[in-house]
Amino acid sequence: MDPVSPLEQALHAARARVLADLAADEVAQPDVVSMVENSVVERRWWVEQWPDGAAYLPGLVAQDVQDALLERYGRWPLCPVCGSGDPHALDVEPELGPDPHWVCHKAGVRVAAVGSLGAAAGGTPSS
Ligand SMILES: [Zn+2]
Repeated sequence: MDPVSPLEQALHAARARVLADLAADEVAQPDVVSMVENSVVERRWWVEQWPDGAAYLPGLVAQDVQDALLERYGRWPLCPVCGSGDPHALDVEPELGPDPHWVCHKAGVRVAAVGSLGAAAGGTPSS
C-alpha cells in the first residue's frame, strides 16, 4: 500500500471542499468538475515547489474555479445573504492563507468556510 503524501492529501481535501460548494449550488456539471481538476493539476505543481503552501490550497482552488466559471458561465457563488439588490458573487478571504472563507463584501459578513457553502445557503441557521 502506498502511503499518500501529505501534499496529495491536501490536494484531495481542497478538491473535495470546492466540489462540495459547487454541488451546493448545483453547478457541479462535468465541465465544471474538469475546471476543478485543471486547477488541482496546476496547484499540485505549485505546492510541490512550495510545500508550506498546502494550507492555502482550498482557497486557491476555489479562486481558480471561480475565475474559470466567470469566463464561461458567470458569477459564482452568488451571495445567499443579501436578499435584495444586484446579485453578486462571494469572495474568498484570505486570498492566500489558511482557513479560507467565502465573504460578502457588500454586507461585510463571512458567509461560510470554503467547503461549507451548502450549509450556509440551504441549511437551517445554527443559532
Ligand atoms: Zn451579499
